[in-house]
Formats: sequence, C-alpha cells, structure tokens
Amino acid sequence: MAINITSDWHIHSTSSCDGHMAFKDLIKIMPEKGIVNFGVSDHLSTPKMLIDLINSRMEFDAIKPSAGSLNFHFGIEASSISKWELETMLQKGLGDRNLGIRQGGPYDDEPAMFLTKELVDKYNIEYVLAGVHFALYVPLEREAVISSYHRQNMFLANNPLVTVIAHPWWFGDVNGYWAEPDGKMLTGPWFDDFAGAIPKSMHDEFASAVVQNNKIVEINMVMILGPQWTERFKSDYIDWLSFMKSRNVKFSIGSDCHGPDYSIDGYQIAIDLRKAERILAGAGFTNADIWCL
Ligand SMILES: [Zn+2]
Ligand SMILES: [Zn+2]
Repeated sequence: MAINITSDWHIHSTSSCDGHMAFKDLIKIMPEKGIVNFGVSDHLSTPKMLIDLINSRMEFDAIKPSAGSLNFHFGIEASSISKWELETMLQKGLGDRNLGIRQGGPYDDEPAMFLTKELVDKYNIEYVLAGVHFALYVPLEREAVISSYHRQNMFLANNPLVTVIAHPWWFGDVNGYWAEPDGKMLTGPWFDDFAGAIPKSMHDEFASAVVQNNKIVEINMVMILGPQWTERFKSDYIDWLSFMKSRNVKFSIGSDCHGPDYSIDGYQIAIDLRKAERILAGAGFTNADIWCL
C-alpha cells in the first residue's frame, strides 16, 4: 500500500504572528499541491495572541464558503509555556506576544497552556495542534533541555484539549546558543546524535501516553525535509517515527508552512511532498498510518 500526501493540518495564515499566507491564497494553493484535506492552525501560545485567534476565525468564516468541496477545517497551534510565565502574563500583561517573558521564572518550571476549553468552544476550534517550542527555565545544557522537552511532550500527551502533538523534538534556539550563523542546527541539544542523546525510556513513555490518550503525532515536513538538519539527524528522526509506528501511533501530516508560497519555514525552498512520500514509503509508512479530520 502506498502513501499519498493529500492532507496538511499545520498551516499558518496572515493572522498568525509569523504567517504570510492569505486565506484566499491558501484555498487556491492547497489543491494545486494535491492537498484536499487541510486546516489552518495559527499560533496561540500566549494571552497576547488571543487577537490572532479572533482574526483567524473571522478570516476562516469569511473564506470557508469559497472552499467548495475542499475538506477545510479550523484549528490552532497551541504551545506549552511556563506556568509562571502564563500566570504573570495573565495578571500583568507582560512579555512578547510570541516569545512570552523568558526571564525571571522559577527553575525548571512546570508546563502550562494558554488554551482553555472555553476558548475551544467559543471559537469552534475543530482540532488542536500543540507543540513544544522551548525549554522552560533550565540551563542550556543537553540533559536539562532534553528533560524539560520530554516533560512538556508528556504534558501535551496527557492534555485533554490536544488533538495532535506538533513536531516532537523540533527546537526553537531563540538564544542562538547552538545554531550556526546560517541557522543550521548541527550540534546540540540532540541534532548531532538524536538516537544517542535521548534516553529510550523517554520515547517509551511518550509513545505509551500518546496511544493511551488517543493523540496523533505530527510528521512535520520541516523535520524530514528541512535544510537546517544533517542527513544523519533526518535519518535518525525517520527511525524514531518508525519506532512510534511500531507502537501503533497514528500520524498527521503538517507542512508548518508560514507562506506565502508553501515553502519550508524560514527558507525559500518548496516543500517537496513527493520526496516526503518516498522517504516515508521507504520507512514502511502507508496511507493507513495517516490521520485525517
Ligand atoms: Zn510549532
Ligand atoms: Zn507551526
């Protein structure tokens, strides 16, 4: 059985803090790429992004009648953030809209999420992508960052609001601590030795929680096609996806496209869905592994 990528549940529009694809372009470009099942998923990380959710929903409602027979849905991309940071932002309104506060919080803070059931209901959010984006108040050392990341992945896997766990083990190196000047991630916290750096017990625990709680794990196109990682990392990551598949995990496809032309986030490189299909087919993935709303 083959794998044909016809869905994409991770797309950012101009309503996102960092998106550049207008809704009218989105419903035109997707079918040109062979994508007929898809959803918009703008960022909703911090309280200051509530306006983005409101805008995204308004734009969606305005364009939906033009989408014809396309299977087009409204989602969001939530993020785990520091509990202290969330409470401080809610009480005092401090912090950057996208990145939050990022200083002064308690060591190794516990994860939280701005998204609530009330917001899901009020804005008719049909599915929730949620991902880890940063480590939470730990020193930039491999073990500390890996531990914080895993803790957040587990928080999302156990959160009843979450449908899909976005891009596991993607990492936002906002401090530029590990990234090369050109943005490449060649070393830490796990990009030089993904298979060796992260304890297998973490993958076991994550897979069990995902299956038990009926979560979907995203196959993010950036993780398997991105020019910022080494071939070794991408190969290790496919092995990790195969491990998750062996544990009966279901997957969604996400381009993480920030537009305007359906290129890889941060790069002027077209997302090659046919290449992604070849990589996934080579690892034994078929259409039966892929979730669709
Ligand atoms: Zn993300
Ligand atoms: Zn995203």
